[in-house]
Amino acid sequence: MKKMLEVRKDFSLKAYNTFGIEAKCKYFVEAEDEGELAEFVAGYEWNPLEVLVLGGGSNFLFTGDFEGTVFYPAMQGIEVVEEDVESVSVRVGAGVVWDDFVAWTVAQGYGGVENLSLIPGHVGAAPVQNVGAYGMEAGETIAEVEAIDLEKGGRVRIAAGECRFAYRDSAFKREWKNRFIITRVVFRLAKHPQFRLDYGSVRSEVERLGGEVTLAKVREAVIRIREAKLPDVKVLPSAGSYFKNPVVAQELAERLESQYPGMPVYPLGEGRCKLAAGWLIEQCGWKGKTLGRAGVYEKQALVLVNRGGADGTDISRLANEIRKSVFLRFGVWIEPEVNVV
Ligand SMILES: Cc1cc2nc3c(=O)[nH]c(=O)nc-3n(C[C@H](O)[C@H](O)[C@H](O)COP(=O)(O)OP(=O)(O)OC[C@H]3O[C@@H](n4cnc5c(N)ncnc54)[C@H](O)[C@@H]3O)c2cc1C
Repeated sequence: MKKMLEVRKDFSLKAYNTFGIEAKCKYFVEAEDEGELAEFVAGYEWNPLEVLVLGGGSNFLFTGDFEGTVFYPAMQGIEVVEEDVESVSVRVGAGVVWDDFVAWTVAQGYGGVENLSLIPGHVGAAPVQNVGAYGMEAGETIAEVEAIDLEKGGRVRIAAGECRFAYRDSAFKREWKNRFIITRVVFRLAKHPQFRLDYGSVRSEVERLGGEVTLAKVREAVIRIREAKLPDVKVLPSAGSYFKNPVVAQELAERLESQYPGMPVYPLGEGRCKLAAGWLIEQCGWKGKTLGRAGVYEKQALVLVNRGGADGTDISRLANEIRKSVFLRFGVWIEPEVNVV
């Protein structure tokens, strides 16, 4: 039985963001049925500044109350909609927990998202920042996104080619920001998986598990690596990597590399390079530091944590101090990956 659409007023989002920060929204609209949500939206006057679509809240920092409407799409279900000898198309509800979906694909023997094991959040958010990890990105397997168009009204189907997937980026984060409520995502998965082991320590961790390489072993390896590096948000609230890895001009990357031998630099072509934000922050001495009730995670300088009772301004104050010191030392502004509201 699907839950009926519910609208709540002055609703606390504390349990709905992984930083565990107290913030209220004016209206909170939760729906499991896209037809019902589309009907509700038909009578809704859209203003992009007064709307926010929330999934698992693992990529948000609330710095105060939100004086608008939060849509919480909670569509459930994983169904195979098409199949041939090579691949299978799977349609998944936006409210399905991302890692439950990954576990399901691995149990079925379908490849394409196994390296994305244990990423927090819901399936509906995966296309938004094109979630990625260990050499794999969700956008590579997304075939289609189903959504409700808040601007024009009605239900739409958006082909992957229109979504402009890029590194931690898509049209949903840019020109379509706050315009679509994603209700379901269709993934095209491989029946004969091509394993991706050449990123970080995935291969060595898989080898440690012994025997032939399987989807289940890749998933297990990724889970072990992540658990050793990233905090469990239920124990230490955070939003994962707070900053994006900055992309800079090749000349600047080369100049910094000669000044700081051993600095990680990833050439992107076309005269641009990606730097490791975590490395830059660590060099500035922030790893493990605490400022008030906010801190930098001991094992990974990219992760900011709520040390207990922090509010959004505690976290953003720390983030600003870090940004300033990275700029003063390296001449590079690092930008938040997290949505700051
Ligand atoms: C410990 C930790 C580790 C993480 N590791 C990774 C990682 O390895 N790789 C990675 O890419 N990310 C990582 N993240 C970030 C986060 O998990 C992802 O961004 C995830 O996709 C967010 O999902 P969510 O459901 O929590 O989305 P939310 O945080 O609720 O929302 C994120 C964005 O998506 C939009 N959105 C959410 N749902 C919908 C919807 N149904 N329709 C339209 N827009 C929507 C929101 O408006 C917002 O802009 C990590 C986070 C944590 C806490």
